[in-house]
Parts: sequence; C-alpha cells; structure tokens
Amino acid sequence: MKVIKFGGSSVASAEQLKKVLAIVTADNSRRFVVVSAPGKRNNKDKKVTDLLIQFYNAVLYKQPAEEVIRKIVSRYTEIATEFQVEESIEKPFYAELKALQENFDETDPYALDSFLASGENLNAQLIAACFQKSGVNARYINPKELGILVSNEPQNARILEKSYEKMYQWRDSEEILIIPGFFGYTEDGHVCTFSRGGSDITGSIVAAGMQVDLYENFTDVDGIYAASPKYIHEPELIEYATYREIRELTYAGFTVFHDEALMPSYKAKIPVIIKNTNNPECQGTLIQKSFENKSRNEVVGVASDDGFCGITVGKYLLNREVGIVRRILQILEDLHIGFEHMPSGIDDISIILRERQLTRDTEAALMKRIEEEIQPDHLSIEHGLSVVALVGEGMRERPGTTSDSTAALARKNVNLRMISQGADERSIIFTIRSEQERLAVRSLYYTFFD
Ligand code: ASP
Repeated sequence: MKVIKFGGSSVASAEQLKKVLAIVTADNSRRFVVVSAPGKRNNKDKKVTDLLIQFYNAVLYKQPAEEVIRKIVSRYTEIATEFQVEESIEKPFYAELKALQENFDETDPYALDSFLASGENLNAQLIAACFQKSGVNARYINPKELGILVSNEPQNARILEKSYEKMYQWRDSEEILIIPGFFGYTEDGHVCTFSRGGSDITGSIVAAGMQVDLYENFTDVDGIYAASPKYIHEPELIEYATYREIRELTYAGFTVFHDEALMPSYKAKIPVIIKNTNNPECQGTLIQKSFENKSRNEVVGVASDDGFCGITVGKYLLNREVGIVRRILQILEDLHIGFEHMPSGIDDISIILRERQLTRDTEAALMKRIEEEIQPDHLSIEHGLSVVALVGEGMRERPGTTSDSTAALARKNVNLRMISQGADERSIIFTIRSEQERLAVRSLYYTFFD
C-alpha cells in the first residue's frame, strides 16, 4: 500500500492533472493521494497559495477583493472545464472563498490559516471530481474526518500523536482517498496549517497513520541532486540516501523535500521516494534507514546555505573556566536566540547563528551582555557567512575525507572560517564567507563526484 503526494506544479493545470491520473491508476496500491494547491504553470505565474495571501491582505486592509477571488476560482475552473466537472465546482468554490471574506475576524489568530488551507482544500475536491469523472473510485476527504489533529500553532502546526490511531481506521477504505495537504485541525476545531510547503508533511503523516509500505512524493525534478543545479551543471542524482543524510542536506539548504516531513516516516520506518511527475520512469531518490547491501559513495551530497553569522569569544585559559559555556548559552537563551554550531579552541569559542534571528537591537544586547558577563579578551561578530555541508554516512568508514575536502578548498583559495564535524561523522560543515560559497560547492562536488 502506498501514499502518493503531488506538489503544486504537478497539479497546476489540466495537462498536469492528466499525468497525475495516469500515475495513480498505473498502480492499484496507490490508495491515498495527498495534494498541494495549484502551483505555478510557468515562471511568471503565481501559486494559488500566494494568491490566497493576497486575498487575505485585501480583506485585512479592507481593499477590494473581487478580482483576486475570481483569479483564484479561475485556476480551478480552468482544470474543471477540461475534465467536464465545471458545473459542480464554480459556484461552490466561489461561495467558499466569499465566506472567508464575510466571516473574517481580524482578532482570530487562525484567520490566515483558513485562507491558506482553502488552496489545498478546494484542490482536493476538484481532483476527486476529476477522478470520478474519469471513472476512478475516489473521494475527497477532509483532514478533520480523516483525523489529522494538530497543535495550536498558527502557520506552524505540529501533528498530535493521537491522530495516527484515528487515521488508521481509514486504512481499508474502498475508495482512493484524495486528501488536501498542508493543514489539520486543532482540538478545539480551528483550521491550522503547517509551515509553508507543508503538504509534504501531510503526506508523511498519512503514510505513518496508514502504515503503508512506501511514501511516494511526486514533484517536478527527477529526485534529489548531489548538489544544487544553481552551482553545478547537471549534478548527479542521489539514488539512495538515508533519512539522516537527507536531514543534513535539507538543513544546509536543500529544498526539494520539506525538512519537517521526514520525521513521521522515519519514526514509522516507512521508506520515502522522491519522483518526477513529468518523468515518472526515472527511478528517483529512495530514502530509508540504511542500505546494507548497496555500494554507495562515501559522500552523497554537498549542500550550502547563506545567511549565517559567527560570534567569537576569546579568553585566556577559557578551557579551565568551569561553566563558561553554560553562561554564554544562558545569554542566548534569555534573548531567545538559537545557535547552529559551536566549534571551540583552547582559548576561544565560536557560535554560528542564523542571521535572521538578530535585529540590530538584539545583536547589540547580545554583545553587551557577553562583554559584561564573560569579560572576554576578545569578542567579535562576523556577518555574511555561509555553511557548506559535505554529507554521507560512508565517511565514517573511510579515512581522509576531511583532508581531501580541505585540500580541494585550499587549492581554490577558499578560506575556512570554521570546520565542525559531529562525532558520528555523518557530515562535515565548513563555514566560509558567502562570496566563496559557489567556489566551495564546486570544488567539493568535483572532488567527490564526476
Ligand atoms: N501550498 C502550500 C505552499 O505553497 C503548501 C504546499 O504546497 O506544500 O506553501
């Protein structure tokens, strides 16, 4: 049994939906279909979810909203016309959007969530109608009926454990269930969405809830590449990756799969495969716990992300001062600042942070408190840093990966600000100046691939 999820570009037009229909009906173990809202049809197009944000803002600021409502409805009717289900779609969809406007309450913390969720909710209804019209025994199911219960965190929901048992009752449904991705319901009945891109999370949750054998995630690329095509021309496809490797790669900038989507599948031990709706024959990227009998590269991918900064605290005999790290971390905690890495030397310690967490005021407060409470000999902050992660479980077994990579970076004159490697040697993280990110990714990629 399989859960199959289609991303926004796979359901953006009637032409795409025909591919979806062919994929679902090609394999009768595909029983649960999770869908995103219609995405972009071309580079200049807008995602329905972004149109819904525009609609929400119009309502919030009491601007005319009729045009954007019609634009949203037309995205669905365009598909409905092609499948000859227009009559059952147009009026109810318009009414559902209009109701959002009429029932709007700006003090409701979940107001935006209801707008956002309607993109997937209407799409699942449309797709169920198209499937039925094409003779497929399918039905739309609302996440409430299915049992997707989430925490009270608007636009950042987390699944509640009790959902899984409820969902399992639908496991033997006669009909293929068409499930809108991206949202669930809080225990007191509010629509609440996951973070952006969260339909991947729904797919993973449904896979865990139904205890299926495979979670298939269909998107518009052949799978996960060993490096970003932004930096490498035709990078190799990763055919096999472990959950942990994908987690490390998504942490450091890979965006094919939502970084919170792995957990439910991982816990339920369900393999995940990333495949291309436009090229379903391609084998894609298979993600599971381990691949004992497969020979794999020791490095599976090189990821990178910018927007980091590093704080360096230097103090003579810092290594002998008991509790100093705790005191530095306490300052960060008081200011609600999380950190990413903390490499240390004998007399200094560096803290790598995501820059978006710091405003000018919090940065000033942070530096002032470290200065006063730690009394360092040296204190500095460096902005404009990137992290580059070299990822692969096989590195543990093979000596020399660090030296090969640092030698490659040195040959290209990439100046390393920091290196950190976890004890389980699944990844090596290099912190560098963002201007050198491209150069660093390219030199590492060509050292281990191609
Ligand atoms: N439609 C939502 C978004 O654009 C969720 C998703 O597509 O996964 O973020």
